[in-house]
Amino acid sequence: MEFKPTIGLEIHVELKTKIKMFCDCLNNPEEKIPNTNICPICLAHPGTLPVINKKALRQVITVGLALNSEIPEYSKFDRKNYFYPDLPKGYQISQYDMPLCKGGELSLFLSNDSEEVKKKMKITRVHLEEDTGKLIHSVDGESTLIDFNRAGVPLMELVTEPVIHSGKEARLFAQGLQLLLRTLGVSEADMEKGQMRCEVNISLAKDEKLGTKVEIKNLNSFRAVEKSIDFEIQRQKGVLEKGEKVVQETRGWDAEKEITYSQRLKEEAQDYRYFPEPDLPRLHIYSEDKSDGLFNLEEIKKQIPELPWERKERITKSYVFLKNINLLIQDEKLMNFFEQVVGEFDSIGLVNKEKAVNLAFNYLTSDLKGLMESGLITWEKLKITPQCFSQLIILLFEDKISSRAGKDILAEMVKKGGKPEAIIKSKRLEKISDVSKLEPIILEIMKNNPKTIEDYKKGKENALQFLVGQAMAKTRGAADPKLLERLFKEQLS
Ligand SMILES: [Zn+2]
Repeated sequence: MEFKPTIGLEIHVELKTKIKMFCDCLNNPEEKIPNTNICPICLAHPGTLPVINKKALRQVITVGLALNSEIPEYSKFDRKNYFYPDLPKGYQISQYDMPLCKGGELSLFLSNDSEEVKKKMKITRVHLEEDTGKLIHSVDGESTLIDFNRAGVPLMELVTEPVIHSGKEARLFAQGLQLLLRTLGVSEADMEKGQMRCEVNISLAKDEKLGTKVEIKNLNSFRAVEKSIDFEIQRQKGVLEKGEKVVQETRGWDAEKEITYSQRLKEEAQDYRYFPEPDLPRLHIYSEDKSDGLFNLEEIKKQIPELPWERKERITKSYVFLKNINLLIQDEKLMNFFEQVVGEFDSIGLVNKEKAVNLAFNYLTSDLKGLMESGLITWEKLKITPQCFSQLIILLFEDKISSRAGKDILAEMVKKGGKPEAIIKSKRLEKISDVSKLEPIILEIMKNNPKTIEDYKKGKENALQFLVGQAMAKTRGAADPKLLERLFKEQLS
């Protein structure tokens, strides 16, 4: 009988609020100067009192409603007592037995596999707490500095049931959650920046009982989530097959070697001595009859935008001809751009829209996405408008420019803006399909490359490709390579 892995996730997310959770210091993850956004409250000076940021409560409730969680009428904050140098109070304000959201589920909607898309992963709870400061260790290991800019930033924690069974499922869950958080505008949830942090609990067992749990921490990319789980499944299997026991411990992830390593053995379950936070009132979230409470859930529900899985369904139905639609779906900003471009096609009543949509899809998911991923351009600095992008696609679609010219124009518009027609004119990129304009170029290239012509006549096929390449360069990609090939062959026969 095979060992079955059982995995649960704990995901922490920094919320995108203007101010911190319990004071009015700025919540600015981009702040570079340490200890700038601090005050007596988030530094825990004696006698200071926390004040709840209602926006953060609302954001977590919004996430809960989108995940179909139950939002209890009452909630509260609790003190979690533990000592760590980056925690100024000596305790963390968190939530213990009355979280803001109970239950809920998230499907693996980003999968390409329709069976996997239907899988709904059960969520245990979503609650709100405050983030800690950051420890910065010196290179020589001699000293440690503390930056409290992050201390007191609203932190959402989501815990899943142990319902995940592979690294891929865990990755799809985390990616889906990130997209949801971005769609709801509650967090950028960028893993590389630590705005979203995943911890994995994993155990292997042959029967329905759960095996010994191992925890993996410090996973700062989706790849790390998937790969660390896959590695850990194999490692634990190896241990169990030898008849040995898995040690209950916390392991780290070495992204370079792609292995997990032992960090520390699990001490006895820590006693955090949770008790209701005496400095904060109990929260009356809402009342069924709407007579009282902090929020009106119906009103929050109304403001929830189209959710990413709903969007995927709509787009898939509208554009059945598009292959690998996830390339668009998983990138919210690219998806928004695509919809605006298609809107432009509609507004001019383009005929044969399917072909143009396909072309736009390809240029967006390969060329534009490529430029984004190379780090040469960011969405904030992007100069091209959906309107100009759609004009470029139409020029390609109507065969007025070559695809090579299309790529050059796109790169130019992305960086500097401008209308495609104007760039074509200034760079003389119109497609040359006029044979009389190409003939002199062909004759000149033949005159300059007698050796290549000899080679071609001896039967070397790639000699022809070389000549075509020369002509393409001469016309700056404006000629049709098929036409050039034909013209060369005519001359050489
Ligand atoms: Zn503060």
